[in-house]
Amino acid sequence: SSEYIMPQVDEGKLVVTSEKPKVTPWYISMLPYLITIVIFVAIWIFFMNSAQGGGKAMSFGRSKAKLYKDDGKKVTFDDVAGLKEEKEELQEIVDFLKKPKKYTELGARIPKGVLLVGPPGTGKTLLAKAVAGEANVPFFSISGSEFVEMFVGMGASKVRDLFSQAKEKAPCIVFIDEIDAIGKKRDGQLGGNDEREQTLNQLLTEMDGFEGNNGVIILAATNRPESLDPALTRPGRFDRRVPVELPDLAGREAILKVHARKIKLSDDVDFHTIARMASGASGAELANIINEAALRTVRNNRTIVTQADLEESIEVVIAGYQKKNAVLSDEEKKIVAYHEIGHALVAALQTNSAPVQKITIIPRTSGALGYTMQVEQGDKYLMNKKEIENKIATFTGGRAAEEVVFNEITTGASNDIEQATKLARAMITRYGMTEEFDMVAMETVTNQYLGGDTSLSCSADTQKEIDKKVVELVKRQHEKAKKLLMDNRAKLDELAMYLYEKETITGEEFMKILNNQKNADNSAQAEASGDADNKEGESASESDTVNKEQKKEQQTASVREVGEQV
Ligand code: ADP
Ligand code: MG
Ligand code: ZN
Repeated sequence: SSEYIMPQVDEGKLVVTSEKPKVTPWYISMLPYLITIVIFVAIWIFFMNSAQGGGKAMSFGRSKAKLYKDDGKKVTFDDVAGLKEEKEELQEIVDFLKKPKKYTELGARIPKGVLLVGPPGTGKTLLAKAVAGEANVPFFSISGSEFVEMFVGMGASKVRDLFSQAKEKAPCIVFIDEIDAIGKKRDGQLGGNDEREQTLNQLLTEMDGFEGNNGVIILAATNRPESLDPALTRPGRFDRRVPVELPDLAGREAILKVHARKIKLSDDVDFHTIARMASGASGAELANIINEAALRTVRNNRTIVTQADLEESIEVVIAGYQKKNAVLSDEEKKIVAYHEIGHALVAALQTNSAPVQKITIIPRTSGALGYTMQVEQGDKYLMNKKEIENKIATFTGGRAAEEVVFNEITTGASNDIEQATKLARAMITRYGMTEEFDMVAMETVTNQYLGGDTSLSCSADTQKEIDKKVVELVKRQHEKAKKLLMDNRAKLDELAMYLYEKETITGEEFMKILNNQKNADNSAQAEASGDADNKEGESASESDTVNKEQKKEQQTASVREVGEQV
């Protein structure tokens, strides 16, 4: 302590000197801040790069459009089955990319942008790839959602970069998949998605900035064309629209065959039947059916895919796997059997309804406890009023059987109810099939390719009346179905017990039993139901028609109608 030191200082033994205290230089004291900043920048760069799919550093704002490479597995038009008209339309683009001179010398203007529209899984992406494969030109492919990412302002610069790359490589194809992700209508509201709008504006600017004839052609695909900004579809932009629809019967068969090229098939395989059973299925679902069948074959330690494998895989794709260990009580199984026979019998007893292909009461993983698979004879493009009414009656047939036999109703009809209501509403609001509302549209389809959502466009009063009319319509068909089943109670019982025993029966078995007993029955019954049919027939004679697009919807419905959620 000082008492100890001071005497020593006084004695001169110790010399005390003083120095200015050391000051930390500014850059040292800044060090913690600098380190923090460096770390942040590093993290930022890291994330930017991973967002870019891990490219070189400092490539912010570059589009990550993938240059489609010809790695020996080139997709060509041969890989795209069906879609004849679509391929023809695109052939022109291919031709132009191969021999641009032919067109430019004549002064023909080639479309800058082609929009492929259609439901999911119909082969839009596949078609775009095939165009590139056929034309043998560079192919830039990017998905609309990739433009709109983490960082604000990146979308627009990605678009800019994409087009500058494309111009360097011309002639070439730029493919923007799912363009609706950036091309949605700008709503003009404050606080809307600025990022998306900026990206869209940049895209529009770029498209205006070059001539189609300089060899960059833009393909885009979407399944919500109605949501696209009108600016995108203006002349000079995506002015050509190629609808890619769900495949028809021949198309389905062709798609099945294309995908079956890779697998070994037994001689009994009949693609025509499979295609018929898979009515309403998209190309992607058909590809999936083939694959499921192959997997099933492997699972069962076989080496050749059979017809049975394919048929089972249709059901897997539509209704999910068999739930082998689902335990239905005996009573439940009986109810399900009657329910399903109810559908099938009502369908069969109405002359215009499609015959049944198969009925099963084996529960599926989708929650279906059983289902009736109806098959359209050929492709139908129009449905008349009578046919729609019959369809509604068929939907109500399951519940009607429960009522007739058990005098009790279950939750098993929820899906039927939904489908029947949908059809009845459409008859009134969209197909103009009622006296009252004549040919006035009360609903418009807002989402043609994705479930066909509709929006109402009528007054509250009218809505009330429509609702009333829907109930009336469904009720009338429900009563008709009940009457049909009561009149044919013996057949209902026999068929239901047969199904209960066997769990799965084919349409042929069904028809055989039905017709056997029909012959045995007295003809009075047949006359009675024939009478009812004729009365219905009168109102249907001046019936309206349904256009092609809606028919596809119906077709899909006929496959989907099968699920019976509980
Ligand atoms: P989309 O882009 O219309 O949703 P995709 O082109 O991605 O549909 O199709 C998905 C898959 O379905 C394809 O990879 C292909 O295997 C199959 N597919 C769809 N349509 C067809 C078709 N017309 N011919 C052959 N395969 C098809
Ligand atoms: Mg696609
Ligand atoms: Zn049902």
